[in-house]
Order: sequence, then structure tokens, then C-alpha cells
Amino acid sequence: MSSEFYLLTLRGKWINLTHQRLYFTKKFPTKFMPQENIDVSLLREIIKELTTTLRKQDFLTYFKRISLLEQTPEKIVFWVVSSFMRDNLAHKFFNEILSASKKISPTVSVIDFCVDKNIDNPSNSSVIDCAVEYKELTSKKKKEEIPGTEMVEGINSRIINSKYRLENFIIGPSNQLVHAAAEAVVRRPGSAYNPLFVYGDVGLGKTHILQAVGNAIKERYKDKKVIYTTADRFLSDYIESVKKRTVDRMKEKYQSIDVLIIDDVQFLAGKDQTQTVLYNIFNTLYENNKQIILSGDKPPKELTALEPRLRSRFEWGIIVDIGIPDFETRLAILQEKARAREFILPQEVAEFIAYNLGANVREIEGVLNQIIAEYELHNIPPTIDNVARRLNKLSITDSLIGNSTKKMAASIKTYEELLDAVAGHFGIEKRNILWDDRKKENMIPRQVAMYLLKNRMNYTYERIGNIFSGRNHSAVLYSCKKLETILKKDQNLFYEINILRDKLGI
Ligand code: ADP
Ligand code: MG
Repeated sequence: MSSEFYLLTLRGKWINLTHQRLYFTKKFPTKFMPQENIDVSLLREIIKELTTTLRKQDFLTYFKRISLLEQTPEKIVFWVVSSFMRDNLAHKFFNEILSASKKISPTVSVIDFCVDKNIDNPSNSSVIDCAVEYKELTSKKKKEEIPGTEMVEGINSRIINSKYRLENFIIGPSNQLVHAAAEAVVRRPGSAYNPLFVYGDVGLGKTHILQAVGNAIKERYKDKKVIYTTADRFLSDYIESVKKRTVDRMKEKYQSIDVLIIDDVQFLAGKDQTQTVLYNIFNTLYENNKQIILSGDKPPKELTALEPRLRSRFEWGIIVDIGIPDFETRLAILQEKARAREFILPQEVAEFIAYNLGANVREIEGVLNQIIAEYELHNIPPTIDNVARRLNKLSITDSLIGNSTKKMAASIKTYEELLDAVAGHFGIEKRNILWDDRKKENMIPRQVAMYLLKNRMNYTYERIGNIFSGRNHSAVLYSCKKLETILKKDQNLFYEINILRDKLGI
């Protein structure tokens, strides 16, 4: 059993711990034995306090198994499992731990940390495993705060997922109209836009917005009967009722509701009888000013496998499409999803994902889930390198820099503008890019500028050579190839170049 002590110079002197001064009043024995009267509930309260003041990611990374070695009214000595943990707690989180300790036990003025691997013995009942504690605390919190998914009264009790809300639907140019129409429908169900027909490709948020409208109407008008269903389920309801000879009852039930939401109506293609039933239901609801909300993968008139009379009914209200979200919207969605999972995604990593993943929001969310799982299960932190590796593994993007992200920024016209942008981005003088020195801080921007001129603006090597103080063709070629080799290893630089291209629209 190896025991070590935090600071070796226990001579009753002030010891500087990253801006902190601690006063040690006595020497510790070489082998640490916790006091008999250790109060685990005090430690638990301190840990609980820390879970609210520290970032989740920090807490889970640096706080492992912990106990108390000594506890007096003035002083708390934490007992931790490794010198890594001790160093981090003492250096990075000293202030937070001290104030959490003071909050729980106001007379405490000194805290300290000791390492003893023996703490790892699972039978030690005075030890708190911070990861387990965190899970318990947050799951309790969740249970208190978030109501479970709701069952909707009515036909076979459809479930609307309460996490889909208008408030957490991120608005951008691609879905502004849908959101506005959805809000109008919530304000005046049955009279604003009837039916509301939303169409778009998979994974762009149709189900989210439909269910969000359902949730909002149910919250606002408690007495309204809201049914969310999918075309698939509608179809099986119908088939079931045919088997049981209860088609009329099925129709009556549907006709008695106030808001009917049917997702993915394209799946009714070729199901003529089901379409007829829906046609009848639609007419009754519509005549009674009941709200109908539908979604499909195409606008009604392109859903040619549906009966023309049904298609034309779908066109009576408003038809809005959900488009592909742009970079900013993707980024905001990703950040919102991370926030909802209480996961701290560094800004540059979020940008990297949003930049490199294209249209499908569900795919972006899938990557976020993988990153969270990797972090929680294997302690792999969300860095650009790790995420880039994951993206390549999933082969969602062809090549991180080479992919054809269509950029919205205005195209630059001249090499001068490019040089200005590159110099500005790397924070150096333009002339340092053009000169022929060997300083690394100038060489990379120089190579980046050449590379972009060649690959994105189609300049010839000769022309680039002339711009860069008359270098010859092969020197430019060499620089471009060199950068390509660097880019294969340096994902951060990859990413920076993507940002530059984004800014320049090239
Ligand atoms: P669709 O029904 O069009 O296939 P979904 O509604 O299932 O797509 O969306 C896929 C995922 O993307 C969902 O988790 C949804 O919450 C999310 N999503 C899509 N668009 C947005 C948005 N604008 N804001 C927030 N989340 C979105
Ligand atoms: Mg859907």
C-alpha cells in the first residue's frame, strides 16, 4: 500500500498553491488513517454543492472517489484516490471546493488534500464515488423537473413526446415559415391555417414541429382533444377496425377530436380504402373547424400516389416546407441538444461538427449522442481531434476539407483579398506571408494562402510564384504538397482552413 502526501514541506509554513496560501498546523502521520468520526453526510453535501457550481464535464473528469481524512470545525482534509486528482482539485478547483465547504460548514477556513490509493477499496463506506453521486443527484433532479411523456386520451392513446416544443425548435431561414405557421395554428386552432401541411426531407424537424404544436395546444386549451398519429398507425388502426368490423366506430372517434395531427402521409400511398376513410374524417373535421396538421416528404401535389381529392384537400390551408438548415442553424440546434443533455460541448467542437455535417439534423444529433457516450463510458473528451476521428469513422463526411459545403459568403475576387484574410486570420502582417523567411508562424499562413489560391481559386503555380516574391513553380508546388501532408495530421488546421474558406466563400 503506497501512501503519499500532497506537499512535502510540512514545516508549519505558508505554502503557495496556485495563488492560495494554506497553513498547516501539524504534520500528518505517514500512513493515513481516517478519523473515526468522519461525517460522510458533510462530504456528500459538499459534493452536492459542487455539482451545482462546477461544469458537469469538469466535475466528472476530475472528481473520482473521495473521502475525508480529517475533519475539525476549522479544517477539512479530503482523501483522494490519485495524485492526478489531488493536483487538479488543489490547483484548478481550490476556490470552489473551499467555498462549497464553507457553505456547508461555515467555520471551515482551511482545506487540504491527501492521496491514498487505499480509498479505492470498494468496501470503504465513508468513500463517495463522485460519478455515481452525480448520476443519482441529477436523475433525482430530472424526475422532479421533467414530466414524463404524456399519454393522449383518445384513439389507442397516442404518445406525444413532451421534449418536442416550439421553444426548443431552433429557427433559421430554412424553417422560419414553418415555425410562424405553427405558432399561428396554436394561437387560433381550426381557423388560422387549416390544414397546415409541412413537408421536407427526413431528419429536418417535421415530427418535432408537429408534436410541438400538439403539446402547445394541449397546454393552452386544456379541454381540446389532440391526437398525434402517423400515417402508418392510422393505417393499422383502419385495418384493425376492418377486422373487428368497427370501421364506423373508428371514424366516429377520429371525427370527435379537436386537433388531428398525421405525420408522414406519404405512407398512405396506394392504400385506397384508408385514404377514403381519411377523406371522410377530414371533411367532417374541416366542416366543424377542427384543426388538421399533416406532414409529408413532398408537397401535396407531388404525392401522386394519393387520391387527387385527398391531395386537393391537403392544399386547402397552408403548405410550408422545412429546408436544409444553414451552418448557423445547425450550430444552434447542436448547442441546444447538448444543453438539453447537460453536456458541455466546446464551442470550437460544436462549430466543427456543424460545419462538417450537412443537412440531416438527426445525423448531427446522432454524432452528439456518440460523443456523449464516448465521454461517459470511456472518458474520451470531446476534442476536435477525437470528433474528427469519429466523423471519419462514420464516413458521414467524405473528406473534411474537400467536401462540397456550399458556402453562403460572397466569393472573394482577388488574391489580395485572400492574402488579407489569411494574414488577418493568423494575426500576422501581410508582408510576412509574402516574404521568404523560415519562421514557422509565417510559413504555415504562407502555405495556406498558396494552397487556397491553387485549390480554391484555380491560380497556376507560376502565377502564385510571381505573387510570392518570384518563387519558381516547383517551390510553390512543394509548399502546397507540404501543407497537404500537414493537414492530414493536424485536424485543427484543417478546421481553421474550413473557417477561412467559409468566411471567404471559396
Ligand atoms: P423528420 O420528422 O423531419 O424526419 P425530426 O422531427 O424527427 O425530423 O427531427 C430529427 C431530429 O432533429 C429531432 O431530434 C429534432 O428535435 C431535431 N431537429 C430538427 N430540426 C430542429 C430544429 N430546428 N430545432 C431543434 N431540433 C431540431
Ligand atoms: Mg418524422
